Amino acid sequence: MNEFGKVLENVSLKDYSTFKIGGITKYLVKPYSEEKLSKLIKYLNKNKTKYYIIGNGSGLIIDDNFFNGVIIKLDYFKDIKYQDNLVTVGSGVILSNFVNDNFKYGYTNLAFLSMIPGTIGGAVVVNAGCYGDEIINYVKKVKVLDKAGNIKILDKNEISYGYRYTTLKDKYIVLETTFILKKGDVLKTKEWLKEQNNKRINAQPLDKFSVGSIFRNPEEHPAWVLIDKIGMRGKTVGGALVSSKHANFIVNEKDASFKDVIELINIIKKKVKDKYEISLVVEPTILRWDEL
Ligand SMILES: Cc1cc2nc3c(=O)[nH]c(=O)nc-3n(C[C@H](O)[C@H](O)[C@H](O)COP(=O)(O)OP(=O)(O)OC[C@H]3O[C@@H](n4cnc5c(N)ncnc54)[C@H](O)[C@@H]3O)c2cc1C
Repeated sequence: MNEFGKVLENVSLKDYSTFKIGGITKYLVKPYSEEKLSKLIKYLNKNKTKYYIIGNGSGLIIDDNFFNGVIIKLDYFKDIKYQDNLVTVGSGVILSNFVNDNFKYGYTNLAFLSMIPGTIGGAVVVNAGCYGDEIINYVKKVKVLDKAGNIKILDKNEISYGYRYTTLKDKYIVLETTFILKKGDVLKTKEWLKEQNNKRINAQPLDKFSVGSIFRNPEEHPAWVLIDKIGMRGKTVGGALVSSKHANFIVNEKDASFKDVIELINIIKKKVKDKYEISLVVEPTILRWDEL
């Protein structure tokens, strides 16, 4: 596979996850270009080899068994091309870097993304967002690779989406995305970001390993309120802990296993269902090798 990209063997996925949980993958490949990635997918299909694409691993709870397949990471897809009020960005670009680049040209409408610790690819496929805004609002088109390894351009109106969801997920590899940009007051926006950042530091356990919010907020109540009410704040299973700073965060306190986290999630779901008849929905993607 060396002809397709940089190949790493027997890599621990803990190092590719903000949760620091994940097993050893037989291969991790960083394709050099779109064409090489297309050839890699065709090669893997032909050899019936399982593969999975990851971004920054900030929205993934990764199985910690051995993965006898290929993890693909788009670290070399880092181009950012501006044209008039449009920008086309490679999927491997980290969101905060993209926001900073936009500031240089006076564009501020995507600043809200800067506190989300993901890549462009990961953010677009899950429709990441915060403060009442979401990334899909600014997408014009995406360049993707389908399961057969063919490159396609999809206009926004060819994508269905909703809260933290798009039809791109698990169907396509997003190669690059074109966004519509809007100018604004960069200094004011940076001040606003600083405020929001301080609020997050005060409210969330950002100094611990996590994947952000564990559950979506149901319509009735914020998830953290329900978790508090069932008395799960501060509770542990193995090395996984319900954060005492923010009850909707599970943190990897001490070498937590995948199983610890799933067990803790299931206990919370059951208690909330029993007491309030509300079915909590997990927000990050739970990645199990036997489901690929
Ligand atoms: C401290 C913290 C705070 C967070 N705050 C927020 C927040 O405010 N709002 C929010 O929405 N999220 C938040 N998150 C969750 C997470 O950062 C986002 O979901 C982010 O968009 C995930 O991007 P990623 O690059 O890390 O993707 P990953 O976690 O690596 O992958 C997520 C999914 O995207 C897929 N994927 C990744 N790249 C591609 C690609 N190029 N093509 C196709 N599929 C791809 C993967 O297969 C996987 O299914 C937070 C996480 C943490 C740890």
